Amino acid sequence: MKKITWILLLLIWAGLSFAQKRAALERPNIIIILTDDQGYADVGFNGSKDIPTPGIDRIAKNGVVFSSGYVSYAVCGPSRAGLITGRYQDRFGFSRNPLLAVKDSVMGLPLTEETLGDLLKKADYKTGVLGKWHLGAHPSLIPNKRGFDEFYGFLEGGHRYFPEDWTINSEKEAKSQYDGYRTKLLKNTERVEETEYLTDALSREALSFVKAHQNEPFFLYLAYNAPHAPMQATEKYLSRFPNIQDTKRKTYAAMVSAVDDGVGALLDLLAELEIEENTVVFFLSDNGGPTKDNASDNRPLRGFKSDFFEGGVRVPFAVQWKGQIPNGIVYDYPVISLDIFATASALAKVQPKNQLDGVNLVPYLKGEKKDPPHQAIYWRNFDRNRFTIRTPDSKMIMEAEAEYLFDIQSDLSESKNLIGTDITLKNKLSERIEQWKKLLMDPLFLGLLEEKEYNLRNPDRFTPESKEKE
Ligand code: CA
Repeated sequence: MKKITWILLLLIWAGLSFAQKRAALERPNIIIILTDDQGYADVGFNGSKDIPTPGIDRIAKNGVVFSSGYVSYAVCGPSRAGLITGRYQDRFGFSRNPLLAVKDSVMGLPLTEETLGDLLKKADYKTGVLGKWHLGAHPSLIPNKRGFDEFYGFLEGGHRYFPEDWTINSEKEAKSQYDGYRTKLLKNTERVEETEYLTDALSREALSFVKAHQNEPFFLYLAYNAPHAPMQATEKYLSRFPNIQDTKRKTYAAMVSAVDDGVGALLDLLAELEIEENTVVFFLSDNGGPTKDNASDNRPLRGFKSDFFEGGVRVPFAVQWKGQIPNGIVYDYPVISLDIFATASALAKVQPKNQLDGVNLVPYLKGEKKDPPHQAIYWRNFDRNRFTIRTPDSKMIMEAEAEYLFDIQSDLSESKNLIGTDITLKNKLSERIEQWKKLLMDPLFLGLLEEKEYNLRNPDRFTPESKEKE
């Protein structure tokens, strides 16, 4: 009798354990690892020769590299607004890099928008964001108010890397926009006395978040600010690059290498906890490399951060989901960061509040859908009146001063402007842009380049002026 009871209990336990695993598979964990201003060429999986990234490359080996992986804007803030909502940010007026304006509830992601944190909380995920927020510093716009259970990082568009530089206790004390780079880190809404190099601290917190939530569905948005300027690295990482002579490039390499260690450690932890097969891991940069600022390398792409040439918006981008999507393949049809939200929504089986612009990539990666995920991807730079469209075959950039049309499949480096030679295609693409424009609204707030005007217009909402550019 006793024996039978034990067997029954064992069977029930095995059944429960199986059911738990099944439930987890049905709602996999989601991790997004975002780097800041990393060049297209600066990962091993895109061919980097001087900066080994064995950690990040494991995502490519375990999964899929997007060779035509885009972000929705060519600078930090709007790109992040697109990523975190799954929608073109111009739909809701997030068209510029926000100013650090802690008294301004409009300066950031509008409350009408649902973040990926909000979405996954509806499906009972534990949600965390680590690192750079940059979607609003007003108390109503901070991560803990936007769908994230846990936050460890900073609200500004950038940050210094060494704890001894973090001397400011509140955004309100910042005397210039770039003073914001010196704030003490926040753990939720409390200031902390961090002692580690920033990238290492964020990696440490990522491991701790995953350990804490290993038994429940979780969403981790790990937003490293490396390798964004200022260029700062520790000897541990600098010493890995004795052969790089250029100081800026060497520091950049060290900063990327620090991120890479963190990514490797995170993947090790997923394996150790045996949750690799129910965890989807995305890796991407928020925009292309600003080569002059941080010595990044976008080759063979043309252009840089803030351009709509490929070097501004085509980024290192890969995803792994072991046992679920193929491993070691390159997917060449254009995809966009907005697809991450749509994919997460489908995997967590939870309906988004707003109309999405991305698609669930999983059926494409499994080969169940063979057509291109997007017939067209679009960009707008409101202040320059610049519009860009990428279709599976072509790319067109339109602005007042210049128009470009490229056969992007055969001309990856955008070297041959075909704008005068294919009027039919130009008209067809122009018509698509015109249709897309109808979805968009004007910017909600003045940006980083307009702080003087902002302060004139908003004397009661004083934001510190930039005295130095870091
Ligand atoms: Ca950036």
